[in-house]
Amino acid sequence: MPRAAERLPPWLKVKLPTGPVVARLKDASRSRGLSTVCEEARCPNLGECWGGGTATFMVMGDTCTRGCRFCSVGTALKPPAPDAEEPAKLAQTLKEMAVDYVVLTTVCRDDLPDQGAGHLAACIREIKKINPGMKLEMLLQDFRADKALLETVLDAGPDVVAHNVECVERLTSSVRDAKAGYRQSLDVLAHAKKYRPKAPTKTSLMLGLGETEGELIQAFNDIRAVGVDILTLGQYLRPSGSRHHLMVDKFIHPDDFKRFGEIAKRHGFLYVASGPFVRSSYRAAELFMKGHLENHAP
Ligand code: SF4
Repeated sequence: MPRAAERLPPWLKVKLPTGPVVARLKDASRSRGLSTVCEEARCPNLGECWGGGTATFMVMGDTCTRGCRFCSVGTALKPPAPDAEEPAKLAQTLKEMAVDYVVLTTVCRDDLPDQGAGHLAACIREIKKINPGMKLEMLLQDFRADKALLETVLDAGPDVVAHNVECVERLTSSVRDAKAGYRQSLDVLAHAKKYRPKAPTKTSLMLGLGETEGELIQAFNDIRAVGVDILTLGQYLRPSGSRHHLMVDKFIHPDDFKRFGEIAKRHGFLYVASGPFVRSSYRAAELFMKGHLENHAP
């Protein structure tokens, strides 16, 4: 298991974003009881993203039925039912925020008969109805690789389909919840590409959990082999103040992130974002996607 890497290196020390734009957008989402991953995860990129017209919303509440050892989201066997008003609230809040690219992410709801697929599809449809020009990226859970549930969400028409593999294969059982799986996640990405070939697919890997360079390159191969277009590589950071989340094994130097990004690009991805602060929803990648979508309408 990972050795303890304690003190943050200089390249990871940043000031958290503030300012009128951030404050106004926080009010817009909080006033409707919506939660953004940006705030939940205290993401250092919030200012850049929100100031630049993108935001990431977590739908179906802030409590998950799983307990991945890197994730700060709350967990329960039976979280409260999803808010039936959420699709309308989300669509209206995004209209007010006037963002041009939105990322929806979600907790897992293994407790629901359709694992929440119907609710997610309703959110996507309502956002697209109220905000027709907005690009929407859906960061999906794995629906335990149930293809029919996956298709329910894909039929709602997200512009970009994302699902995170999270880490290299060997570490999956110690990093992710037991219901998740490396091969299962690759199957989800493969089916998303097969079912809607023109919709770009995207995934993300956290580094600094104890993976070797060889394992990372094998993951690039596996991910490219299921047709994934976009890859993001970022530093795993232990949720602040937590004693029971995974320790960081290593803080990867920005030069190594650059090198890994170059290696990944040689695997034929449309776009690779690689850096200590890169997260699965990352402004630069979204800018690229927006441009790509405008030139290659799905
Ligand atoms: S399934 Fe997703 S939201 Fe749930 S604990 Fe794992 S990473 Fe967090």
